[in-house]
Amino acid sequence: MAEDDPLKPYREKRQFCRTPEPSGGGSGPSRGDPLFVVQKHAAKKLHYDFRLELEGVLKSWAVPKGPSLNPAEKRLAVPTEDHPLEYAHFEGVIPEGEYGAGTVMVWDIGTFRNLTEKKGKPVPLAEAVAHGHVKVWLQGKKLRGGFSLTRFKTGKDEAWLLVKNQDEMADARRDPVAEEPDSALSGRSLEEIARQG
Ligand code: MN
Repeated sequence: MAEDDPLKPYREKRQFCRTPEPSGGGSGPSRGDPLFVVQKHAAKKLHYDFRLELEGVLKSWAVPKGPSLNPAEKRLAVPTEDHPLEYAHFEGVIPEGEYGAGTVMVWDIGTFRNLTEKKGKPVPLAEAVAHGHVKVWLQGKKLRGGFSLTRFKTGKDEAWLLVKNQDEMADARRDPVAEEPDSALSGRSLEEIARQG
């Protein structure tokens, strides 16, 4: 692997003889629209991992409260290491003592389009992420419409906000985190995944 392998931090944190998580490298970029996934992760503290496909990996943010469809709700999103593309379909249990120990559910999955613009001109996603201003249109099972990710703190405490854009898919009355808790992939609850692996 090249020295600039973006999955190096991901692999260094994990022992693939112990965790059922994918080691990566087995799947090329998506044909057609890129993938997005939101994984519900019952680690020490429950959170939602928001991931966007970019250049063969999943750019990732941990969102403690999960996404909201209400444009008035700003959700903290803390960047985490790039994940392999295969991770988008990973559901299972990371064993006790391993990195991120706990149950992982594919809470929502689908494709997205990059809507980021600057002065009316489209900005490629890699540049948008580097600049800390990302606007995407999600086509998931639970999440649809425009969402913005905006970096507001840099350095080792880097932090972003995930916010629903004001569009026809915004809905302050619907709360998918509370109302649609189960897997978008298998229909299972966290408890069922924990039991079945
Ligand atoms: Mn996580």
